Amino acid sequence: MDIADQALVKKLNQKLLLNEILKNSPISRAKLSEITGLNKSTVSSQVNTLIEEKLIFEIGQGQSTGGRKPVMLIFNKNAGYSIGIDIGVDYINGILTDLEGNIVLDMYYDLADSSPEITKDILFKIVKHFISHMPDSSYGLIGIGVCVPGLVDRNEKIIFTPNSNWSNIDLKTLIQQEFNVSVFIENEANAGAYGEKIFGAAKNYDNIIYVSISTGIGIGIIINNELYRGVNGFSGEMGHMTIDFNGPKCSCGNRGCWELYASEKALLKSFQKKNNTISYQEIIDLAHQNDVEILNLLQNFGHYLGIGLTNILNTFNPQAVILRNNIIESHSMVLNSIRNSVSSRTYPELDNHYELLPSSLGKNAAALGASSIAIEYFLDMV
Ligand SMILES: [Zn+2]
Repeated sequence: MDIADQALVKKLNQKLLLNEILKNSPISRAKLSEITGLNKSTVSSQVNTLIEEKLIFEIGQGQSTGGRKPVMLIFNKNAGYSIGIDIGVDYINGILTDLEGNIVLDMYYDLADSSPEITKDILFKIVKHFISHMPDSSYGLIGIGVCVPGLVDRNEKIIFTPNSNWSNIDLKTLIQQEFNVSVFIENEANAGAYGEKIFGAAKNYDNIIYVSISTGIGIGIIINNELYRGVNGFSGEMGHMTIDFNGPKCSCGNRGCWELYASEKALLKSFQKKNNTISYQEIIDLAHQNDVEILNLLQNFGHYLGIGLTNILNTFNPQAVILRNNIIESHSMVLNSIRNSVSSRTYPELDNHYELLPSSLGKNAAALGASSIAIEYFLDMV
């Protein structure tokens, strides 16, 4: 083996060990050797490197099976910090996390104007705030993950956002030039799916569909634990599948799209026919007070969601569908109405073979996913 190959093997072993420490921390050197099949001297020398690199550290002593008690190794979650930013149509949600995805700081802005210039300025403001309030650490800020509700291509360029009308924006380069760290741009539903997979409701599933229901509807697809992005990165635009071919025209160019019936925007529109000043928060509050009219409209919302979800279940046959939406998360009646709508339309054989779950990370799902994309890249590179 030549020197380059030896260095590569070392790097791969180190990565393997770091991965196991991440999953099983605290863990002893002996246990690492047993799990990875690497011999004890390799484990010992690679562990020393990881300690020198401040990515792991030793703590006290673990359970002894007789003889000398082993020293335990722990992943150093405070070796650096990552930023996740979710740019919505009318908000920006930013979080600073440690390397295990625990939220250290957060900032939320309502966006009155979602033009790229204004949004970029607020994004920069959030990042600067996080950098100046970040705890001291060995690696400092390791990266920034940003997600947007629209099409992001394989080069992470924002091609189009149907509900806020951005086209061809290279936000990645702008952020990189300003802050000089690794930047990742991802579609919002993909980031949310990733967040739920790593930290949330999808943790124990290998094949899931994440459905983000906000101003529009987007889905994130995880197949065998990996995000499926499609050839160009445009997968998951199921908010724009037609559920009524004679339906109204949509901003995407199609007609009768699912999100015209089952998004937050559609829900709000149906309420505003009766009361044109009602806000989304007031709807949630009235639903909690069991207002009959509101409950009827929510029942309809669940019904329309069920129609699109049936198409999704028939297409992907996933283990679980995770639904991200404030009303669904806070009002079990909507989830029941979705369940009824779905089970009245799917094959009976499918009925007991999927889970329909509300998001467990709520409004932070996408920002957490974006942050963890940056963390994963950092840990892969060290
Ligand atoms: Zn559409």
